[in-house]
Amino acid sequence: MAIPIPSRQLFINGDWAEPLLKKRIPIINPTTEEIIGDIPAATAEDVDVAVQAARSALTRNKGKDWAFASGAVRAKYLRAIAAKIKERKPVLAKLETVDCGKPLSESEADMDDVVGCFEYYADLAEGIDAKQKAPISLPMKTFKSYVIKEPIGVVALIVPWNYPLLMATWKVAPALAAGCAAILKPSELASVYALHLLASVFITCLELGEVCREVDLPAGVLNILPGLGPEAGASLASHPLVDKISFTGSTVTAVKIMTAAAQRVKPVTLELGGKGPIVVFEDVDIDKAVEWTIFGCFYTNGQICSATSRLIVHESIAAEFLDRLVKWSENIKISDPLEEGCKLGPIVSRGQYEKVMNFISNAKSEGATILYGGNRPKHLKKGFFVEPTIITDVTTSMQIWREEVFGPVLCVKTFTTEEEAIELANDTHYGLGGAVVSKDRERCDRVSKLLQNGAVWVNCSQPCFCQAPFGGTKWSGFGRELGEWGLESYMSVKQVTEYVSDEQW
Ligand code: NAD
Repeated sequence: MAIPIPSRQLFINGDWAEPLLKKRIPIINPTTEEIIGDIPAATAEDVDVAVQAARSALTRNKGKDWAFASGAVRAKYLRAIAAKIKERKPVLAKLETVDCGKPLSESEADMDDVVGCFEYYADLAEGIDAKQKAPISLPMKTFKSYVIKEPIGVVALIVPWNYPLLMATWKVAPALAAGCAAILKPSELASVYALHLLASVFITCLELGEVCREVDLPAGVLNILPGLGPEAGASLASHPLVDKISFTGSTVTAVKIMTAAAQRVKPVTLELGGKGPIVVFEDVDIDKAVEWTIFGCFYTNGQICSATSRLIVHESIAAEFLDRLVKWSENIKISDPLEEGCKLGPIVSRGQYEKVMNFISNAKSEGATILYGGNRPKHLKKGFFVEPTIITDVTTSMQIWREEVFGPVLCVKTFTTEEEAIELANDTHYGLGGAVVSKDRERCDRVSKLLQNGAVWVNCSQPCFCQAPFGGTKWSGFGRELGEWGLESYMSVKQVTEYVSDEQW
């Protein structure tokens, strides 16, 4: 059944606003390749209006409306947003699935995580006031010092397309909990736009605007501006009244954002790409390890920044492991992502689909073997589908080993010793997620310590909890989202030091 696509405008200063230049971008369903609606595209002119609205949300009523409201007041709004999203879960999940092609069961799980994340940061917001004025112990009794934490100010939140509403929530919930005012810039697949003059955009982020209206979030606290990266994103990153940029996306865009931020010495948090390893030792339960390998690489159609897309398996079990991996892959249901039991939907867009297919053909021409998949599934005539793909005979100089595919493509290498496994695992510019699978507890501890990743999973891959910090090393970025670290990243620390002696200084 067709899902009605809401027609929305930009969300600025608590209300819907037509883009000043009246630009719109089409939404394409990646399963049917049809245009199913459109969304507004903000330009520099709209960015300026939204930033001014955010600034006045912080200063209105001497800041008492938001920045200096109590944490409990802000928590009330975050809980109300969570409750409204819970109510709308069935619709929001379907919208995400038609928009970005991930299986409906996954979109539903994402909506649960969105709700959980808003609730979690409501809890943290409630705790903020009690932690203020924390005393610092000084070496001189004539002085007293304490610390207060304040919202950083107006923050630009720029997000990608693979988890549209969840990636937005990872930033919006802690930013609002901290007392910041925000401008959220959802993705529009900027690079694809340039290639094909057609783009897909993410509609659930705009639905968050409707939720904010319904809960009467003070005007200007959250503004939502979809638009093209080089237009809306770039003007947001360089706007003089933006105090911080939190960005999730590609390393290439991160360099541009850092360059813009450097001109005005603005702090940035960067969550970027990955090429994660999953190291499987010889002592594992093979079926369980195969299941995590599949999940770690093919979940969300392989479009996960932290995907463990390089399998490093002990040579003594490699043949049997690959055999079972292929059998599991044969049983992955590839279909319209709204269909019951679907495990693999289409890639998000034609541009990404072509990129993934290019990676596979380059791997072949560089001498690798396509052990399984590598094609568009024969039973599907339309849509940007790619079979789950397993590639062997890979060398460490091949593109498929070195670069992020962002699709359901696993490459495989074997190892003999633990040292060799660690060396292979760390043989990448990236450092987001990594996994180790073994029954030997001490070995897991050793390997976890040596993997150069911001997140290490032991005997699993990908589970993500909003209580735990998430972020990368190396080209995967810096700073941490989620947990208390996520909240801290939207606060600045001020020391107040008082002279408390009657004596002349
Ligand atoms: P992208 O870098 O193309 O776009 C991300 C966002 O940046 C979009 O909103 C886009 O409009 C905006 N943008 C583009 N050019 C800009 C510019 N010049 N100035 C400001 N903003 C600009 O990335 P993508 O293709 O949307 O997402 C895929 C990438 O994101 C992958 O590399 C993936 O690994 C990464 N990612 C990382 C995480 C994480 O948590 N580390 C999560 C999801 C995705």
